[in-house]
Order: sequence, then structure tokens, then C-alpha cells
Amino acid sequence: MSKIKIAELFYSIQGEGRYMGVPSVFLRTFGCNFKCQGFGMPRGELSEEANSINPVQFTRYEELPLVSTGCDSYASWDPRFKDLSPMLTTDAIADRICEIIPHGEWRDEHLVITGGEPLLGWQRAYPDLLDHPKMQGLTEITFETNGTQKLTPEFKEYLKKWQMRAWHVGGPVREITFSVSAKLPCSGEKWEEAILPEVVCEYEQVGTAYLKFVIATEQDFADAECAIAAYRKAGFKGHVYLMPVGGVESVYALNNRTVADMAMKNGLRYSDRLQVPLFKNEWGT
Ligand code: SF4
Repeated sequence: MSKIKIAELFYSIQGEGRYMGVPSVFLRTFGCNFKCQGFGMPRGELSEEANSINPVQFTRYEELPLVSTGCDSYASWDPRFKDLSPMLTTDAIADRICEIIPHGEWRDEHLVITGGEPLLGWQRAYPDLLDHPKMQGLTEITFETNGTQKLTPEFKEYLKKWQMRAWHVGGPVREITFSVSAKLPCSGEKWEEAILPEVVCEYEQVGTAYLKFVIATEQDFADAECAIAAYRKAGFKGHVYLMPVGGVESVYALNNRTVADMAMKNGLRYSDRLQVPLFKNEWGT
């Protein structure tokens, strides 16, 4: 049986992107290839906010402080917090999911596999989880990825078959979505490592993929336009969302209207971050 190192496993409302408002189980895996210390900082500067948090003071995710700069899910990849994230068997994960969804079985809920970066090292373990008897009612999955990790040939084939399996026996059509939050220079990550159009185009061979850019300034939008051109040139066909920066309400509220106006003006989609006004973006929401 496979195991996955789980930062968080909780039930909430999807606050971003295509499934905004849909009841969702969030499976947050541990580990990321980026740090994104540039979010919320003047260009060229990196946030030290998460580095100043002392991990020994905390025993549960829910106790961790929120940060207004840098990656808002810092504890899901920073090795200093790794002991908060247990390695769980796929059996234990499926059991836990049935405990937290309202009817004890999948109905209209969708599964969000997020991170950290969920396609980094766990692709080999997901088939075990998705084939579990308690996961058979699941029909929609979103991978929330930074768009830098190729699918392994085995996992790609598995996902194609997973979508068709229930349909062949008269069951519902299953759907896989890749919500790609490609990292612009405002994240602090390097363009050549973050903007990898050929990787994202490959996701479109498996399911629906869309791009979601975090925007704080006009410069970020100019960067997003360059990135969109690069993805389109490579053949990317999916939708594009602009989403305001802000893991805390004070930052989010500063530019959500501006980003919505930018999206409208340019004929792009706007993604809110409903978890911020609804739940203050607390851990476990
Ligand atoms: S890619 Fe996502 S999880 Fe990883 S550091 Fe950046 S914002 Fe955080």
C-alpha cells in the first residue's frame, strides 16, 4: 500500500478558479520545488516572514500564524515544519475523507489535490488512493499545480483510464482539471524555471487545464501577458484567470477590484480567493 506525506486534509468550499463555490475535499501534500518568497514584496526583495516563525512552538497546522508576504502555505514545503505532516497510507486517507464529507460518501464534492506541489513526488501513489473502494463515487479531481512537473507516462495513462472507467459501465463521466498557478517574477522565482509551456500543454492531453496568474501590479499583468503569449505559442488552448494577490484580507482587499477590472478590460477570467473573505484564509479552510 502506498503512503503520502500529508500537510493537510480538510473539507471546505473551493475558493478559486473553475470550481469556485463547490464543496471540496482538500488533500494538501508535503513538498514543493519553489519557495515563492517574492509575493507581497517590493520587486527583487524576498520575504523572511515565514523564516521568523519558530516551528517548535506549534504542534498542529491550525495553530500556525498566517503570513502576509511570501507563500501562504509555507509549512507545506518548508522542511522545518515537516514533523507537522504525517506520512499516511492511502487506506487511512480514504477513511479520513469519508469521515469529513457530509454524507460519509462522495456525492457532489470534488477532490482538490494541492500542495506544496502535488505533482512533485506523489504521482506514483495517487492510483492506489483513487482505486480505493471508498473513492469510487468521486467524479471530479483538480490538481492545483505550479505547472513545472511533467506527468510520468504511467500516471498519464492511469488518469486517462480513470476518467473513462465509470463511463464504460454506464456510470457518470469523470473529469480531471489542472489548475496551473504559473509563477510570474513577482513570486521571486526565475522565469525560465517557472514558465514551462510544454509541460502545461501536456496536461491538456489528459484533462482540462487552465492558467491562473496572481496579480498585484500593472507590471505583474505585463508579465502575465508575456507568459500567456508563450503558452499560446506552444499550443495551450485553455482559459486564463487573473487572481488578486493576498493570503490575508488586508492585502487581498487592496487589489481585488483592480484585478477584476483588469480581467474584464482584457477579456480574461477573474478568480476570487473566496477563502480569504469567508474564512480569513486560516489553515484548514
Ligand atoms: S509553488 Fe505554491 S506551494 Fe510552492 S512555494 Fe510557490 S506558492 Fe507556495
